[in-house]
Amino acid sequence: MSHCPPLVLPSASPASSGMLASANERKQALIEEIHTLKREKNALILAHLYERVDVQDVADVWGDSLGLSQRAAETDADLIIFCGVHFMAETAKLLNPAKTVYLANPNAGCPMADMITAKDLEAFKAKHPGLPVLAYVNTSAEVKALSDYCCTSANASDVARFAAQECGVGEILFVPDRNLARYVQTQVPEVKITYYEGFCPTHMRMEVADVIKLQQQYPEAALLVHPECDDPIKDLADFIGSTTAIVQAAKASDKPVFIVATEDGVSQRLAADCPEKLFITPTRASAICPNMKLTRLENIRNSLLGNNTPIEIAPHLVEPATRCIESMMRVPRGEKVRLNP
Ligand code: SF4
Repeated sequence: MSHCPPLVLPSASPASSGMLASANERKQALIEEIHTLKREKNALILAHLYERVDVQDVADVWGDSLGLSQRAAETDADLIIFCGVHFMAETAKLLNPAKTVYLANPNAGCPMADMITAKDLEAFKAKHPGLPVLAYVNTSAEVKALSDYCCTSANASDVARFAAQECGVGEILFVPDRNLARYVQTQVPEVKITYYEGFCPTHMRMEVADVIKLQQQYPEAALLVHPECDDPIKDLADFIGSTTAIVQAAKASDKPVFIVATEDGVSQRLAADCPEKLFITPTRASAICPNMKLTRLENIRNSLLGNNTPIEIAPHLVEPATRCIESMMRVPRGEKVRLNP
């Protein structure tokens, strides 16, 4: 649960309150150093909504993969620091080949993206010859290079429809997230979506029984669900959308309580921005993506100082992977809102 009861601390001893004060002072000094370095280096800091709130707070932009990709494509900054996971920084590099791009913590990968390799995709395509491939942005550059279209959770249905129309086909291949693919199928029934069996382990750890329990406990709550969740959770949803759409829907709503079925960072962001509302993440202890939480303020400072390895894309992948990503930039955006009756 993102809304915590007031924390009652034992009276702090002079020594422990002094340690706390100096920890806060050190953190504040680090934040100021980041802001100074950012100006000096003409850097843009991008943070995904699943990142820690203190990381989001020093970023110039926070949002979902599509919003961040678009912002990366528009920037005149010399340096891009991506607080997210590897495929996101690769995407930013592909859209900004002349700029230096750092993944703030180079160890942050995405298990879903790792579920499909170029070899796996070649085998999948061979089983379904002649069909266009729509790749979720959560894929490596080598998988994108073998795909025809790219999407995020915010525009997947629009891109699927667009791809089928542009190619004049009634069926497309979707990789790697089966849950997003099934959701797209409900939104675009006129196109057959044949999907790969990948998934996000963080969203799949969320349990429908926990969601139902919370709905019974908070009957006034709205259930906001990310399409990477399993179908039984999506079937209960009042709203299904990308992380940014979930944030916008919660902020626009008059409801006092929200059950937010996605990575816990979204509830944390909402709790920080809307303290008068209650945001609850089901199965919270498991709904935390360990990779998204790897990035710390120190990683951002180190990247600004150049103590990191810039993202490089193998030259033969640059043109086809960029073409794949740019396919989604030309699709009119019209995210659908689905409310259960
Ligand atoms: S939340 Fe899921 S899809 Fe996102 S980075 Fe973590 S494992 Fe990958």
